[in-house]
Amino acid sequence: MRAILFLFIAAILGFQPSHAAEPAFGFDDFLVAPVRIHLLSAKDVPALHTTLVEADIQRILGKANKVWAAAGVHFHIESILKEEAVRQELFDKEAAKTELAWVKRHYPEKTRTTNAFNIYYIKQFGVNGVYFPDSIFVKDTASLRKVEPGLDEPLPRVTSHELGHALSLPHRQNVTNLMASGTSGFAFNADEIQRARAAAGKFGWIKPAKTLLAEADRLFDSGQKADALRIYQSLALLPLESPQLTQARQRLKAGPAR
Ligand SMILES: [Zn+2]
Repeated sequence: MRAILFLFIAAILGFQPSHAAEPAFGFDDFLVAPVRIHLLSAKDVPALHTTLVEADIQRILGKANKVWAAAGVHFHIESILKEEAVRQELFDKEAAKTELAWVKRHYPEKTRTTNAFNIYYIKQFGVNGVYFPDSIFVKDTASLRKVEPGLDEPLPRVTSHELGHALSLPHRQNVTNLMASGTSGFAFNADEIQRARAAAGKFGWIKPAKTLLAEADRLFDSGQKADALRIYQSLALLPLESPQLTQARQRLKAGPAR
């Protein structure tokens, strides 16, 4: 009997996709977390000067969202800011070799938001990326050890990994998972999914997709179409086909009323 039970369980497990192409979470489960992207430029400090452009960010976040769909979390680009690094005259080459916090001397405080994750892209850094409670830094030149299955380019993986820290996940050094250091893996285990979702629930500005949709529908119906469309836009990119999203996507397609 035990053997049969074992085979039965193995058969069930065997049929599960090894890397989640199909999200296990439906529309009603999804949490939407805004991110503000900061593309730093720096005339005097090449290490702080990203060469990424908006199209790169759309691609990077698009791939990060496929990774995070496995946890039912979606990152919405609230805005992409191009901004000059501050206090470039204080750049200290030696400090940059030995510490990570040096980057925090150079971000402009005024444009940092407390209602979204702030992600700064720069050029050179001692590590691929780092998470601080108020900011994430990722370098353009990140490189990773390839594992199978793994992501096809480093930046979406590094961005996804740092967002994992932002959602309370510690390192776990298995080869193909997202929270391993320095590899291209992107898997979660059930515990990480539960933990990241619980952490997301504690940020007032991370909202369930269905709450946002209800809010957008209410705005739409009361004639505040531009505001409604802005929310529909963030929802339309959820990697899901769902009846709830069909209307939002149709309204988005129809565009603003004139
Ligand atoms: Zn890490």
